[in-house]
Amino acid sequence: MKTFRDFGLDPNILKALAKEGYTHPTPIQEQAIPILLKGHDLLGSAQTGTGKTAAFALPIIQHLLKERDGRRSIKALVVTPTRELAIQISDNFKKYSAFTNLRTAVIFGGVKQGSQVNELDKGVDILIATPGRLLDLVGQKIVDLSSLDYFVLDEADQMLDMGFIHDIKRIIRIIPQKRQSLFFSATMPKNIIELSKEILGNYKRVSIAPEKPAAERVSQVVYRVAKADKPKLLVHLLNENYYFTTLVFSRTKHGADKIVRKLKQANIKAEAIHGNKSQNARQRTLKAFKDGKTPVLVATDIAARGIDVEELSLVVNYDLPNVAETYVHRIGRTGRAKASGISISFCDDMELKDLWAIEELLNKKIERVEDQPYHLEGNTPVDRPAPGQHRRNAQKQGQGQGQAKKRQSSGKNFRRKSRRR
Ligand code: AMP
Repeated sequence: MKTFRDFGLDPNILKALAKEGYTHPTPIQEQAIPILLKGHDLLGSAQTGTGKTAAFALPIIQHLLKERDGRRSIKALVVTPTRELAIQISDNFKKYSAFTNLRTAVIFGGVKQGSQVNELDKGVDILIATPGRLLDLVGQKIVDLSSLDYFVLDEADQMLDMGFIHDIKRIIRIIPQKRQSLFFSATMPKNIIELSKEILGNYKRVSIAPEKPAAERVSQVVYRVAKADKPKLLVHLLNENYYFTTLVFSRTKHGADKIVRKLKQANIKAEAIHGNKSQNARQRTLKAFKDGKTPVLVATDIAARGIDVEELSLVVNYDLPNVAETYVHRIGRTGRAKASGISISFCDDMELKDLWAIEELLNKKIERVEDQPYHLEGNTPVDRPAPGQHRRNAQKQGQGQGQAKKRQSSGKNFRRKSRRR
């Protein structure tokens, strides 16, 4: 088995790794580090939790140490979709370069720029950024990318999902052509491959698929339940069992807030984390969760990316995702390292098709638990209404939106009608 020493890394990097307690490289590190040290571009299929950050951070630090010219300028840039990831990546760079004089700064939106600008003014070698704030500060001539040698685009699929494509293209136009480029994405659909071609030159590819191991490690069950009964089922579950920490996934921000309200009404301590919350509120919430002070965190998929909680014991898919791979990412939040986690998915009639798509991806049937007070019989899927469908229906019938909403939440009757149309 390889050790970090075998890569010929700088002694100051090895010292930092020893301090962190890293003994052996993870599979993606073992594959990617030698490629990157040789200066190749890299296309990596890997997600958070695989040791991906060190896989790109260590070679970048090594290069920067070798090429030190005494001047401070931004030589490495990592662009990542969320503030949480940006902070996490920056913390990792700082740890790995703790015994060097390299400086790392992190910039992200949603907070005033003042303290970030102060950090930049001190001089920075490595910059971690979310796209919007980066372009903003470049526009204000506070960030200068003309000395850039290393460019990392992280979580590219998430970037596109969040609508950052134009920002990314603008960034690519700004940065120097001559550079080493690294492109990471958890999934590799066609549009991602297309984008990677715009960024990478002659590249090598590494692929680490944690999907299967996570799916195998985590024990997964499905609770069939009517949409209207989901809050009661969640309260029942959390009251009946003890879980150290529970991460509940909601499809929407509004839904996440609603779940928190229902839990609080039942005297269960819970907080929501999603894009509508301020950066400070998100950090506070996350810390309270990691410290075990808030036992239940309700999150949307985007906000949950990068949440790295050692002792996460339960993941609840309150809503099933309609992209099967997202399910694998979600359950990958539990069952980290040695721990084996539990994932419970609520599935109403509208989500049956999503469930089947997930089972097809996993290539196995997920066990149904029927011994619960809100069990829903039957296996007939109901189609999800098209976006705006309720409103159009309501308008057709000369009804106000309020009534349309009432009908929507009244469940089966409405669904049957909408199916007939
Ligand atoms: P990442 O995929 O970069 O988010 O890393 C996931 C977690 O694994 C982080 O908490 C890292 O600090 C940790 N980690 C990364 N590489 C190693 C390693 N070689 N040995 C032990 N832990 C590691």
